[in-house]
Amino acid sequence: MVVRIRRPFQGAHFVHPIDPAPRTAILVPGFRETRLVRIFPQGWNERAKRFRPASIAGPLEQLASLAREGWPLEQAVIVFTYAGGPGVSPRDREALWQSFGVPVFEQYLGPRNKLLATECDAHGGLHVVSSLVLSMVSSCEGFPLEHEVCPCGNPAPRITRGSRIDELAALLA
Ligand SMILES: [Zn+2]
Repeated sequence: MVVRIRRPFQGAHFVHPIDPAPRTAILVPGFRETRLVRIFPQGWNERAKRFRPASIAGPLEQLASLAREGWPLEQAVIVFTYAGGPGVSPRDREALWQSFGVPVFEQYLGPRNKLLATECDAHGGLHVVSSLVLSMVSSCEGFPLEHEVCPCGNPAPRITRGSRIDELAALLA
């Protein structure tokens, strides 16, 4: 008899927009830790500070309040947006850029932090990485999807930022 042991959810794999990935502090639970990725489920604190991350990832509210403290990062800010919620507005994006002085990347997450769409280096919109999302979006007539190859070289179709992310959110809600 084969006994299957269901392993508890280990957390989602975090895909860093920059390759090679720098030291990253993630400010929410539900991701897997690696040598370079450390999870701080309580958010930004002394421990996170001591980790000296070159980039941080988390939901907009947390990053926005950190931004008010104003300190520089070396690599990137990754903003998690969620299925059913709004994307990052140009104003928020600008504020993060002003405080941290590094590129801002949006990552669109589904349940269990599954990466659905991710913003690339070229900031040409969010590449759809989940086939589930792709099929939903393609089956929805009139949903604008950019199929031209992105300047970053990634052939995956893109959702352009802003209102379209909100549209996608509405679709997935
Ligand atoms: Zn791209």
